[in-house]
Parts: sequence; structure tokens; C-alpha cells
Amino acid sequence: MRSVTAYATTGTKAPFQRTTIERRDLGPTDVLIKIAYVGICHSDIHTARGEWGSTIFPLVPGHEIAGTVEETGTEVTEHAVGDRVGVGCMVDSCRECENCLAGDQQYCLNGPVWTYNAIGKDGRPTEGGYSSHIVVDQDFVLGIPEGIELDVAAPLLCAGITLYSPLKHWGAGPGRPVAIVGLGGLGHMGVKIAHALGAEVTVLSQTLSKKEDGKRLGADHYYATSDEDTFKELKNRFDLIVCTVSAALPLDSYLSLLRLDGALVNVGAPPTPLSMRSGSLMDNRRSFAGSTIGGIRETQEMLDFCAEHGLGAEIEVIGGDEIDRAYDRVVASDVRYRFVIDTATF
Ligand code: NAP
Ligand code: ZN
Ligand code: ZN
Repeated sequence: MRSVTAYATTGTKAPFQRTTIERRDLGPTDVLIKIAYVGICHSDIHTARGEWGSTIFPLVPGHEIAGTVEETGTEVTEHAVGDRVGVGCMVDSCRECENCLAGDQQYCLNGPVWTYNAIGKDGRPTEGGYSSHIVVDQDFVLGIPEGIELDVAAPLLCAGITLYSPLKHWGAGPGRPVAIVGLGGLGHMGVKIAHALGAEVTVLSQTLSKKEDGKRLGADHYYATSDEDTFKELKNRFDLIVCTVSAALPLDSYLSLLRLDGALVNVGAPPTPLSMRSGSLMDNRRSFAGSTIGGIRETQEMLDFCAEHGLGAEIEVIGGDEIDRAYDRVVASDVRYRFVIDTATF
């Protein structure tokens, strides 16, 4: 075991505090990563505040991890000391079920080992990236291509892949009108990636306050969902809507915006159930679906795509002692567009 610095919270209302945690000794296929930056995902907040139910405390969140390899196990072939690497939401999976064999480890039938708030294969709770170092099996470590700085790369490991995967799966591309609901951490990456894929991109945000930003990020159109006329004007418009909102929305009005065979894909994870009228799906033969991050191979593909297109996250870099304030700002939709913690401040 080695002691490393981390920021942890001890309960749903407790502030984050600097502490020391233990990382396991390197197994033969393990990689020790010196974390440089870690993004704050809204899932960290849902978990830390106990909004999804069972949280294991003390909790060290963080699954948008970017850093460099400091040490490798004896059998590591994929990564070398000094490599720029990333870790996302998973650190292991069963590797044997049909979904793992297909490369969809995020849908592991035996449950992927999440980067934090899960039980690792060693029986200990996993602890995430709000930490100076992490030890991860080489198969769950991604390479960060040259051309993307580590600070703007970190949010790609969750926000980037969570949007890239459904946009690819549901065929976002030229001639396909796509809407992104919510211009937060996930949403802003959705706009950038959908635009880079060639789709006609519309942002549906609560207000027009971020319209200039949205256009700069690649949106062709920008509408406020607080304006009733938006739903009349955009009726039957989109092939694909990706909803990134962290609270439960009235789905019927969003479904009404889909044209024939269109799909509304929900990636937001509000703690309360979603509901819709059956007629909202029957009209225009619409689909409603969900999607969880992406597999390891697809995550590498996304990182390479982002490097090729010059895409990174729009970030605000903070220190370890600013986590609580950042959480409040994210919840208030006051994020432009991802907080990233600089571990040099630990
Ligand atoms: P975020 O940065 O807080 O962005 C969410 C955005 O949703 C906000 O910026 C806001 O956009 C909009 N919004 C928030 N509350 C709203 C409300 N009451 N009504 C309407 N719109 C509202 O959060 P995030 O990190 O992008 O994460 C979003 C959600 O996705 C979270 O629930 C998170 O747990 C989940 N998530 C899922 C996956 C997955 O694999 N499926 C991965 C990561 C995160 P506007 O200001 O533009 O309206
Ligand atoms: Zn996340
Ligand atoms: Zn599996």
C-alpha cells in the first residue's frame, strides 16, 4: 500500500476535506498514474449528496482523470512511464460476459467496477480521482493523444464519451438535425462533437443566457425551453435529441419535437423517475432510449476523434479547497462548462 493525498467527504452534508488514502501495491498489470487534473461531473454530486441512494463514505469521487504514468507493473505492455493517460468511469469489469467480449464493458452483465463508490476486485471500496495518484489495470487506462492538453482532456473521459457514444450509435452526421438538451458539462461536449460529426445542431437550454457560447461551440440554432413558442416552432423537427439534464423533465414536450422514427436518448440521471404518455411515442413511431458512457475501445476512439478535430472541454480550473463551492455552482447551472481540479493544489 502507498499513502496518497485526496479530497474526501464523510457524509451527504459534509464538506470536502484534504486527507490521505491508501492505493494498492502494483499488481503485474497495474499502472500507477500521477493525476494532474480531474473533472467534476454532476454524477460526483449526485453520489456525494446521496441522491442516488447508497453512497459509501468516506467518498473520494472523480472519474474524469488525466495524468501521466509514474510506474508500471511487471507485465504492463500498453503504457510506459511518462505516457499521458486518462481514466474514466470504470476501472475493471468481468471481461467474460457477452457485453464485455463485445467491448461494451460499461454494460458488463456482472457490473463494471466503477471508479468510485463501488467494491473493487480486492474487496475494498474504490476511490476516484480527487487524488494525487490512482492505480488502475492497464486495460482500463486510455491514451491521451498529443495535441490535447491534460486539463481540457480530463472531462472527455466522462462527459466526452457519454455524448460521443449515443451520437455515433444513433447516426448523428450530415443532414441529420440533432438537439442537445442542457448546456452543461455533458451538453457542451455534445454540441462540439455533434458539430464535428457534421450534424445540424440545436441547443435547448432553459434560457438564452448562454446563446453566444453555444454558437461558438458549434450550435447552428439555440432555443430557450422556458419559452412556450419553442415547442410549437420545433415540433416534429429532430432525428435525434440527447437529453443531458440532471433533473426530471416533462418528456412529452421534448418527444413532440421528434420527426418520424426520431429518438430521444436520455443520458441525464435524475434521482426521480421519468414519465411520458404512450401517445408521445406512438406518434411519429418515436423511440425513447438511454445510454451509459462508452466502452474502452470507443473511449479511445473518442479521444482520437477529439484530438483530430481539436476538441477539448471548456474548463474553469479550481483548487482542492474550492470543490464545495464548485458543486453549488454546478447545481445552479452556473458552470462554464466543466470545473477541473488541479491536483498540484493538493
Ligand atoms: P451539468 O453540468 O450540471 O449540466 C446539466 C445541465 O442541465 C445544466 O447545465 C442545465 O443546462 C440543465 N438543467 C439543470 N437543471 C435543470 C432543470 N431543472 N430543468 C431543465 N434543465 C436543467 O451536469 P453534467 O455533468 O453535464 O451531467 C448531467 C447529468 O448526466 C447528471 O444527471 C449526471 O449524473 C448524468 N451523467 C450521465 C452519464 C451517463 O453515462 N449516462 C455520464 C455522466 C453524467 P442549461 O443551463 O443549459 O439549461
Ligand atoms: Zn461522469
Ligand atoms: Zn462483463
